[in-house]
Amino acid sequence: MEHARIVAVAWGILEGTRPRAAGCNARLGRHGTRISVPILQIVTEEGIAGFGWCRTTPEQAVSLLGMRFDALFDPTRGVVSGWRAFDFPLWDLAGKQQGRPVYALAADMCGTTTTLPFSAPCYDTSLYFDDLHLADDGAAGELMASEARAGFAQGHRAFKLKVGRGARHMPVEAGTRRDIAIVQAVRAAVGADVQLMLDANNGYTLNLAKHVLEATADCGIFWLEEAFHEDDELYRDLRAWLTARELPILIADGEGQADPRLLDWARAGLVAVVQYDIFSHGFTNWLTLGRQLDGWNVRSAPHHYGGHYGNYAAGHLAGAIRGLSFVEWDDASVPGLDTSRYQVVAGRVVIPELPGFGIELDTELFQHAVARTGFARTL
Ligand SMILES: [Mg+2]
Repeated sequence: MEHARIVAVAWGILEGTRPRAAGCNARLGRHGTRISVPILQIVTEEGIAGFGWCRTTPEQAVSLLGMRFDALFDPTRGVVSGWRAFDFPLWDLAGKQQGRPVYALAADMCGTTTTLPFSAPCYDTSLYFDDLHLADDGAAGELMASEARAGFAQGHRAFKLKVGRGARHMPVEAGTRRDIAIVQAVRAAVGADVQLMLDANNGYTLNLAKHVLEATADCGIFWLEEAFHEDDELYRDLRAWLTARELPILIADGEGQADPRLLDWARAGLVAVVQYDIFSHGFTNWLTLGRQLDGWNVRSAPHHYGGHYGNYAAGHLAGAIRGLSFVEWDDASVPGLDTSRYQVVAGRVVIPELPGFGIELDTELFQHAVARTGFARTL
């Protein structure tokens, strides 16, 4: 079956909805409720279909037609270099061909073992600046605490709070004061046994970061993400300051346009959590990177906000990457993608023991999306 040729490709965009609109972050405006998930389906001559997140064009996708699967996917290394634009559908197809979950293939590839039920830690990433319409910091804290309580009720035990309100959307002092009030309110609402992370989307300066971390020193912050645009001089200062204050807070960075020296800084101990995007870096490359980070005792936490599909795909790395700290969870429902076999339970995403990524594609809804937004080609 590894010799089977690719005979059809179809691509389209599925649209979905978040249960609650996401507000601004330190640099962007409202994120809202709508999400879109570009899906490529790849079919072999045996009639086996794999699908997954993919941005592509008809010109690129037709290059798959007529290719033998074993020229695209190597069981010892993953998707072959040159074909990684189709990473997620090809991993799904590999799993479907073998009747095994992607996490098991990835673990085999890396010589690790997995236990069932397979799961990975996750965090609720939905706590944006949803309070900007409120004049009072107390009311803002209560609103954000209610969002954290809702996530807790859905099974989450870790939360990431967007901070940096004073970078753009509020005056510096008022916004910083509010960040602090919200961190304290959320911590009080969820109790001590929950992990809290902060993400400033590069909206702090070094001194603002220290000010907020000092004021929330008793809140047990797990990591500070994108405090400011990564800079080894400033991170060295922050790292030394955290050590002197005996604050065990990790520095996390790497999504978006990451500095090319980021991995050097991770290896040197300045950046403790690497967050390259699961889509732009890709699943195969993340497998290699995560193993490298494991060797340096650096944590892995792939970013994927806005792409939805990463909720499900990222956790499949957990069997192979020891330091996979968290799957980012951006709750939404997407008609056409049946993800109901995935569950968030006690702070972990439980991944189904199903072939490929364990998601069902509704044929009719996908064909509709292909007709409306995409393309289909056959050999
Ligand atoms: Mg971020």
